[in-house]
Amino acid sequence: MHHSSHLGWRDVDILSPLQAMLTLPLWVMNNVKAAALLGVQRATTAETAADRFYLRVAEGVGGALIQRGEVYTGSSWTAGEVGHLIVQPAGEKCTCGRKGCLETVISIPAVQRQLARHAPGLSWQNRASAPQIVDAVMRQIGELLGNALGQIMLLLNPADIVIDCPWNIHSGFVETVRTSSAVSALTFTSRRTGLHFLREHIDPAQGLALAVIEHYERPMISVASSAQ
Ligand SMILES: [Zn+2]
Repeated sequence: MHHSSHLGWRDVDILSPLQAMLTLPLWVMNNVKAAALLGVQRATTAETAADRFYLRVAEGVGGALIQRGEVYTGSSWTAGEVGHLIVQPAGEKCTCGRKGCLETVISIPAVQRQLARHAPGLSWQNRASAPQIVDAVMRQIGELLGNALGQIMLLLNPADIVIDCPWNIHSGFVETVRTSSAVSALTFTSRRTGLHFLREHIDPAQGLALAVIEHYERPMISVASSAQ
C-alpha cells in the first residue's frame, strides 16, 4: 500500500505479514475499487462492454472506472482518485496536504463540519431539526459534485456513473448533482451519461469477494470460449 491520506500511511507492506500467516493465495485491492465492481452490477444492466464510473462517498471519497468489466487502475494505481480533484481552490486543507479537494466538501466528516458551522450540534442524522440549513448545504455540495462529474464525463465518457453516497436520500442533493453535471459537461455527452444514485451503501468486502470469484473464473471462461 503506497499511500493512504486519511490513515497517514506511506509504503506499508500489507501482503508479506499476511503471507507469513496464511497459506492461501492472497491479493490486495483498494476498497473503493472492490466496491466498484459490485456497485455497477447492482445499478446497471450487465453489459460488460460499456465503461462505467463508480463514485463512493464515505469517510473519504474515491472512485473507479470499470472498463469492459474490469477495474482500470492507471499506470501507478491512482486512476479514479476523484476525492482529490480540486473543486474549491481556496477551500479547506485536505488530508493530502492540498486545498479544496472534493473530499473536503462532500465526505461525511466534511458535511458534518459544514452543518455544525451553520448550527452547532446539528448533524445529518438529526437533519429534521433544521431542514432549511440541511437543504442549503445539500444543494451546495451537490453543485460541487456535479461540476466534478461533468469533468469525469468529458474525460472518460462512461456510459453510466454510479453514485454511492449517504446524501442520495436528499432530493435537493440529487437534483443539484443532475443539473450541475449537465451544465458542466457538453450537452451531447451529459445526455448520453446515465446517473444512478444508489440507495444502499455497497460493502467493499462483498465487492472484494466478487472480484476474487471473477478472478478465479476468468481462466476457465477464456478456456471455455476458446474451445467453442
Ligand atoms: Zn486531497
